[in-house]
Amino acid sequence: MASPAMRGREGGTIDELRASEWVAERYRRIGLVSMGDDGSYFQWFDITRTRVSVTASRVTIAGQPMMLFSDIIPTAVVPAEASGSVLWIADATDTTADVRGRIVATPMLTPSPASIRANSYTYASRYADGAIVTTLGRFARRGAAAVIMVASASVDTAFAVVASARGRGAYDVDRAIPRAGNGSDRVAPPPALGTGFTPSFVVHSSLRRLLAAGANAEISIRLERFTVPSVNVIGMVRGTDSRLRNEYVLYSSHQDANGVRVTMEGDSVHAGADDNASVTAADLAAARAFVRQPGRRSVLFINHGSEERGLLGSRWHAAHPVVPISQVVAVINGDMIGRNNPDSAALLGSQPPHRNSSDFLAMALRANALTGKFILDTLWDRPSHPEGWYFRSDHLPYARVGVPALMYTTNLHDDYHTPRDTPASIDYPKLLRMAQWLYVTGWLTANAPERPKVDPGFRLER
Ligand SMILES: [Zn+2]
Repeated sequence: MASPAMRGREGGTIDELRASEWVAERYRRIGLVSMGDDGSYFQWFDITRTRVSVTASRVTIAGQPMMLFSDIIPTAVVPAEASGSVLWIADATDTTADVRGRIVATPMLTPSPASIRANSYTYASRYADGAIVTTLGRFARRGAAAVIMVASASVDTAFAVVASARGRGAYDVDRAIPRAGNGSDRVAPPPALGTGFTPSFVVHSSLRRLLAAGANAEISIRLERFTVPSVNVIGMVRGTDSRLRNEYVLYSSHQDANGVRVTMEGDSVHAGADDNASVTAADLAAARAFVRQPGRRSVLFINHGSEERGLLGSRWHAAHPVVPISQVVAVINGDMIGRNNPDSAALLGSQPPHRNSSDFLAMALRANALTGKFILDTLWDRPSHPEGWYFRSDHLPYARVGVPALMYTTNLHDDYHTPRDTPASIDYPKLLRMAQWLYVTGWLTANAPERPKVDPGFRLER
């Protein structure tokens, strides 16, 4: 699944569909009951992608056409229409100039320490994002028609990475569980011209002289929106108890990864071995075990599509479940379970405000005592953790609709979301123990006399 031939399984591409077909074929060989559309293993859904159109947009500076995302990077998915001589502001911290209606150009500021987010992306790209935020902050609500930021030397070196990230645009799924607690279940219309953010751009430092001389610029940015198919792969093992078999334990993974991107150290395929072939492999093992010896309750196995594009598959399935959602008794979601210290792991959803079922947690802890005996790292489940890890995997939409849900993980590492997340980096003995932990949690839950209760008053912090 994490071989180069799978090309990083990016959500909404033919590569994700190839991986989904691979997973479905494993489900068929194992003997899972197909639970998708029209008797198949596939639950199809459309994802909406909105991005800057490189064919319908045009930017020229001093008469020279700029290649979008190569010479100039639009930093947000907003339309723009502006032309005229550039107003050069040599020091962006000087906020006294009247910039209303003008195309402003300015050297990028050094990012403030607070703007360099403490996340797991490379320092160069976090530095560049921080520099963009810090510089743009000086122009907020001052009425500029557009802001062109001239890259500093360090942002110049990260130019291709920033261009690749910003060029992807925004992904969403309509009529699904919102990702944010106060969100809508509908995809918002694309931003209209003249509303929302000030259109902003980054250019190479080599353009500084032209812009400082007050060159003419013409900017016409248009957006494009389209839908592409993505898919959840869903199979089931029927329970043995005639009374309990209409209740379901749900094993959750995602088959997508981050596709083919900027080359790093000679490789461009985001193989996604830990993220999330590791959990897919563990769930296939659990599926084999349940087929050989079914539990009293039924067990659903779902590989969610387009998780990396914003939990799109799980948000879709939680809103359009293949069995009544009230009959799903627990979600065992795993995301990255094969790395880091052999003795430690994390269980997200195990402490307030993320804990939504003390009953289910007790089963998971008992299963750990019977299998991997991992020392559980509780830092990552705290609302104060800078990664916001609890909100970044497929258990979230299920927790939002009131299903007891936990996320099993061995946490982030330096190879996260890079071409270095390969099968060779997996700790296989640890992955086996994690797989056993997931399996035994499901076994205990499938056979418990009572389904786990939802804790009263469960409310996420966002
Ligand atoms: Zn993942």
